[in-house]
This record gives sequence, C-alpha cells and structure tokens, in this order.
Amino acid sequence: MKLKLAIYWGAACGGCDVAILDVHEKLLDIADAADIYLWPIAMDFKYSDVEKMEDGYLDVAMYSGAIRNSENEEIAHLLRKKAKVMVALGSCAHLGGIPSLANLFTKEEIFNRVYIESESTVNEEKVFPTEAWNNGNGEELELPKFYNTVKSLNQVVDVDYYIPGCPPVPLQIFSAFTLIRDGMLPPKGAVIGAGDRALCDQCERKKEEKKITEIKRIQEAIPDPERCFLEQGFICLGPVTRAGCGARCINSGVPCRGCYGPVYGVYDQGIKMLSALASVLEPKEQEEIDLSLIHISEPTRLGMISYAVFCLK
Ligand code: SF4
Repeated sequence: MKLKLAIYWGAACGGCDVAILDVHEKLLDIADAADIYLWPIAMDFKYSDVEKMEDGYLDVAMYSGAIRNSENEEIAHLLRKKAKVMVALGSCAHLGGIPSLANLFTKEEIFNRVYIESESTVNEEKVFPTEAWNNGNGEELELPKFYNTVKSLNQVVDVDYYIPGCPPVPLQIFSAFTLIRDGMLPPKGAVIGAGDRALCDQCERKKEEKKITEIKRIQEAIPDPERCFLEQGFICLGPVTRAGCGARCINSGVPCRGCYGPVYGVYDQGIKMLSALASVLEPKEQEEIDLSLIHISEPTRLGMISYAVFCLK
C-alpha cells in the first residue's frame, strides 16, 4: 500500500517545497512509496477534494509556513482532521520563522508600511485590502482574514513531528520520509532528521575561547575563514542552535542565524543566546551595552534574537 501524502504551505516563501524537490532522483523513491493528494505549489488540487475525504484518510500531512491568516489556519485544521500524522516542515511551521518577525509590529503598522509608505506603492486613495468585496454583479468575494499576530503550527493544531530548518536540508526531508514509510517514527513530539546537540559541536572552525570586546556586522569586516565567527565578534547562533543542517551557512562564510531552532531542552533560543553572549563579551565600557533596550514583549524566539542583536549593536 502506498502512503497517502499531503504537502501544504501556509505563510511561507516556498523554500521548503523547493527543498522537497531538491532530493533530486530520490523523488522517484518518494513517488514509488507515496501518492500525493495535495500539493498546491506543484499540482492542481482543490480544498474541496480534501474536505470530501474521510477523517484520517491521509497518512501524512507536511505543513510548511506559519499561520498568518484565516486560510492558513483553516487548512491546518482540515489537514489535521484528515491526516494520521501531522508534520511541521521548516522553521516557519516549527517556530514562526521569518514571518513571525512581523509580531514586533501591529497589524495597522504593517498595512500602513505595505499599502501606504512603501517606496514601490502609489496609493493616494489609501485603499486597504478588505475581507469581503462585491464585484458589482451581486457576487461577494472573500479574502482570508489577516491576523494580528503570526503563530507557529502547533499554536493552532496538534503537531506530531517537527522537521526544522529554513529550509530543511533536502536529505533530512528524505530521511524523515523514510522513517515514516518504514514505520520507524520516534515518540510523538520529536524533532526528526536533526540532532539534539548544538551546531558548535559540529562546526570545524577553530575555537580559542577568546573574549570579545565588540560586536561587528558581517558587512563591516572580512571574517577569518578558519576561526569561530563569535570569537571574531560576529554574532553566530551556533551555541544555541540545533545541529543537523551540515553547517551550510558556516561553510559558506555566513554566521548561523538559528533556523534549526533551540537545542534540545532549551525553550527560549533568544534568551539562551544572550546568556552565551554575556559569557564571551568583555566590553571596554559598561555603557557600550544597554540591555535595557531589549524589547521582550510577546516576541517569537527568532524575532527576539534579531531584535536583541540589533539593540546590542
Ligand atoms: Fe562555529 Fe558559530 Fe559555533 Fe563559532 S559560534 S563554533 S562559528 S557555529
């Protein structure tokens, strides 16, 4: 019997779907073992096709992207009902990811920025999207409701497994798929296809346990390609980020941005990173670091890290 598989994207860039395609010839193995019943980015299925299925009909639903609007949430509930196993695929479904940086702003601020202030927008009549629109022929068209905040998938439905990454490494997706196909899944709630240790444990850059006196942005200096980014003053989230990506960014000369989420046992990646920074920072003057600037009201973890790093600078 072939697995019945659904792949869906909520508030996402499509990178997770591209990562699935990037398994290259292993796609043939997936095609041998599974039939795809929904994949909006690649195939023309209708939501109504899914609605007609019996509950639990699908074996697996892989959901990438965060929950930004009512459509994202409705389909998350629909797939949760129709699938035996629900997988959060990628950073946005796992933790909120880049879309959740919007939680640092109100809905009104976002709409003003996008529809009024943006350099690429001409909107003298100040028209904003509405949730319902009459086309003049008596037809009422509906748009999804834009939520005040962005949520991760497990904030709206029960999630069985998580595959982290922005995007996940393609082979990691394939190995997760193999675990599902072979019935070798770990206990519910596990992160699959990634390690439990920190990226630093797998990073091959030289570490000398040096203190740093200043924090630099990556465009302000050329990093030594052999040495630890953090010890050169560049913010690298390797100490607090789950390994499993193969250090792709580090090996390409870019410090870790934390997309694999916190290491096992750590709830708040941002706070943990501040603690790691505190242990290596040796500012020349105390006033150089004003931690009171750090804003921690209702942050997502990745959002908080970015904001904290911004404030430290
Ligand atoms: Fe490697 Fe970054 Fe950890 Fe340094 S902080 S060891 S560069 S992952």
